[in-house]
Amino acid sequence: MKKAIETLKNWFQQEKRNFPWRNSPSPYAVWISEVMLQQTRAAVVIPYFERWMKRFPSIQSLADATVDEVIKMWEGLGYYSRARALHEGARYVVAHYHGKLPSLPHHLQKVKGLGSYTIGAIRSFAFHQKAPAVDGNVMRVISRLYCYEEEIDQQLAKKQIQKKVKELLPDTEPWVIMEALIELGATICVKNPQCEKCPMQEICEADRRGKAEQLPRKKRKEQTILLQRSVFVIYHQREFLIQRQEGKKVMAGLYEFPYFDKETTAPSFYPGKLHKKQKCKEVKHTFTRYRARLFPTIWEAEEKKEVEGFLWASSEKMKTFPFSSGHRKIYQELMEEHANLTYRKF
Ligand code: SF4
Repeated sequence: MKKAIETLKNWFQQEKRNFPWRNSPSPYAVWISEVMLQQTRAAVVIPYFERWMKRFPSIQSLADATVDEVIKMWEGLGYYSRARALHEGARYVVAHYHGKLPSLPHHLQKVKGLGSYTIGAIRSFAFHQKAPAVDGNVMRVISRLYCYEEEIDQQLAKKQIQKKVKELLPDTEPWVIMEALIELGATICVKNPQCEKCPMQEICEADRRGKAEQLPRKKRKEQTILLQRSVFVIYHQREFLIQRQEGKKVMAGLYEFPYFDKETTAPSFYPGKLHKKQKCKEVKHTFTRYRARLFPTIWEAEEKKEVEGFLWASSEKMKTFPFSSGHRKIYQELMEEHANLTYRKF
């Protein structure tokens, strides 16, 4: 095993991908990058990470920002609860730790949004502690290395795999091996593993037994839920009627046009006279486990009326608000398609 770990280390040092968060892994940079990388590919994360670090270079600057500014910087990355948790977490760190992330696990656990993987990653990559950081990549690699046949989404399996990782980490530079395991899972030991290129092939039990592609085992995936919605783009002169999603909704903190189930074909909630202008093409939008089909129509309001729960925003203001990707897409398509029509005064 010692020899295999040495081979893995050499492979990582030669093959590791160059990411901006790897250049100077401060606790804050590790925190931000690891949260962004959850559910999102590294190539997509790079520009978001760079923009974010420019706009919020420190925990203090993140804590000082408004939630709208934070969500705006996250716009397009999805799973917005991550951005809200980062913001709350930053405020907690400023209030309790003078704006510096603590290094002890029981302190890190109190920071909003930090789960066991992110805590492990911060301890390992930023504080150079011997700490397992077990994400989906590592689960896959370990379950194959040991030909572990239990369903890995069970709590017990997670604990057992975590234990295996701890045993694998050497006393010297454990953080390098931790990151190497993650890299191996992200680049070689992927869904269709490239075992012939793998530095761990010699000791891999799943490869030896010809079971690599069947592992890891998982419980059946949650089913996707299809949503069909009528979206009403109501405008008056240069302003649009929009709403900010509140509470604990998936889209909390994001702005959207008024929408209803697809059966609702007219915006009868609006207290003034509306003229239907145009039906737009359908917009498809996927978020968490939902797949939404949005059917937008455009309506011109004769008069600007106040509607409870909604606000009027100018097209300039609309650019600064964080929008859900589906509704942002509707707005962008509207701008492009209708630039030459009579109601181009948007
Ligand atoms: S040999 Fe294949 S299955 Fe085993 S760790 Fe390497 S890539 Fe994964």
